[in-house]
Amino acid sequence: MRPASTLVIGAGLAGMAAAIHLRNSGSKVTIVEKNAAPGGRCDRVSQGGHVFDVGPTLFVMPLTYQAEFASMGVDLRDRLDLRRVDPTYTLVFDDGSQLALTSDLERMHLQLEVIEPGSFGGFLRYIEEGHRHYHIAMQRLVNRDFRTAFQFFSLGNLPLVHSIKPLVPHYRHMSAFFKNPRLRAAFSFQDVYMGLSPFMAPSTFSMMPYSELAHGVWYPAGGMYRVAETLADLASQRGVEFIYNKTVERIDVRNGCARGLHIEGDRFLEADAVLANADLPYIYKDLLPDKARAEKLLQKRYSCSVVSFLWGLDRPYPGLPPHTLFLADDYRQNFESIIDDLDVPENPSLYVHAPARLDPSMAPAGQDTLIAIVPVGHLDEEGNQDWEERQDRARLAVFRRLNLLGITDLPAHIKFEISFTPLFWRNRYNLVKGATHGLSHNLTQLGYFRPHNRHPVYKNLFFTGASTHPGTGMPTALISGRLAATRMVDEL
Ligand SMILES: Cc1cc2nc3c(=O)[nH]c(=O)nc-3n(C[C@H](O)[C@H](O)[C@H](O)COP(=O)(O)OP(=O)(O)OC[C@H]3O[C@@H](n4cnc5c(N)ncnc54)[C@H](O)[C@@H]3O)c2cc1C
Repeated sequence: MRPASTLVIGAGLAGMAAAIHLRNSGSKVTIVEKNAAPGGRCDRVSQGGHVFDVGPTLFVMPLTYQAEFASMGVDLRDRLDLRRVDPTYTLVFDDGSQLALTSDLERMHLQLEVIEPGSFGGFLRYIEEGHRHYHIAMQRLVNRDFRTAFQFFSLGNLPLVHSIKPLVPHYRHMSAFFKNPRLRAAFSFQDVYMGLSPFMAPSTFSMMPYSELAHGVWYPAGGMYRVAETLADLASQRGVEFIYNKTVERIDVRNGCARGLHIEGDRFLEADAVLANADLPYIYKDLLPDKARAEKLLQKRYSCSVVSFLWGLDRPYPGLPPHTLFLADDYRQNFESIIDDLDVPENPSLYVHAPARLDPSMAPAGQDTLIAIVPVGHLDEEGNQDWEERQDRARLAVFRRLNLLGITDLPAHIKFEISFTPLFWRNRYNLVKGATHGLSHNLTQLGYFRPHNRHPVYKNLFFTGASTHPGTGMPTALISGRLAATRMVDEL
């Protein structure tokens, strides 16, 4: 039965999606958000006519958005002006050579054969396998929750070990399709979106490059933040109440139940159920009394973090594609440095986004808006990392990489810089260790092994969001919100 009233901690995408589903089922829903606006990590900064998406910049897995919006009772296309981005990414290697990932098979054929003769056949086989992985994993693993161990460890799931190769490391598996290490990197770097190294990620994740090429990478006019705005508008229209600028300080739990929330300013809110959207390890660490469980969660693997730069530029760089990925030849060392040493690699792979290529309104006329994202290790326990020094190294790495494209004057044209380190991700969104994608998505932290959408003891306390099932990413957040809301209605 639906809870008569629900309090949601956090107005992230998962929290808002769940709130809409709960409201649709008749629950009275209030969202308490510590920041001044909705969206969580899907955030926006504007300055002097430059508009920046702070977190996500890639609208991937459009079929999931479509299905999830439909499940909330609206048509995605009515709400967002989506534009297809093709080539999806321009990859730039250390010697300046390029590969534009595109759904145009003829163009892919020509480019791949230059890098490795005969590799187009491998590419087609890889994409075909990705297609299989995508459809099986979405249906059997991502789009359902595992409320009991039996649902996950059933005989019916046994064939998945072969069909979607969860036990085979992704990068190692790439050798079945490509000899050239640059091509192996070109079709496995997407694992970073899960905050994972391809050397550890399951081969199942070939579903991502498949979906990007088959279903497309898109861009909502006005930027990715339009997704957050759209969900917040929809939630408000349906009657969800938002309380902004108030941090939840404690979940009141008694006799196996969550009673309500203590929020900043000595206020107490009561409800029949609580849904926590803030990062799950943070919820255990800071808002619940069970310190043993919190400590156990802190020992788990966390995704990487990023240092990012938002630059307002006084001239345009029209030759710079919308999504450029500089892929380092020392690909393995890059991930070792990030995952094992929690550092910034010496020659980091990095990503540059020029949103004005997709929507001119993202920059003032005759100027440009750039976002550079450098994956780095998450915060260490001791707090010994010097983030100013790392930030300087990361910035220089971006400038150096842009030189490969003939852009040598960028520093002279920066009007202003806004920059984020893992400390920002921790402080602004309460992400434990500043890990931008929450708990890592390695095999032992996926499916039934990922924190569930319901607390094991407090029966009316539920969880949704990146560190819960099914995991990180904007479309996944929408699924997570739906699964959590459905479970609440089913089990209360
Ligand atoms: C740099 C970066 C790049 C990314 N790129 C992409 C991309 O290109 N494509 C993509 O699909 N995904 C991307 N992602 C991932 C995606 O942004 C996230 O997986 C998704 O937005 C997570 O949503 P969520 O609802 O789980 O959590 P959050 O967005 O973390 O929402 C949780 C909310 O809870 C609030 N909160 C926390 N503590 C409290 C408290 N005590 N009281 C009240 N409120 C609280 C937070 O302020 C936040 O608003 C990226 C993420 C980052 C950081």
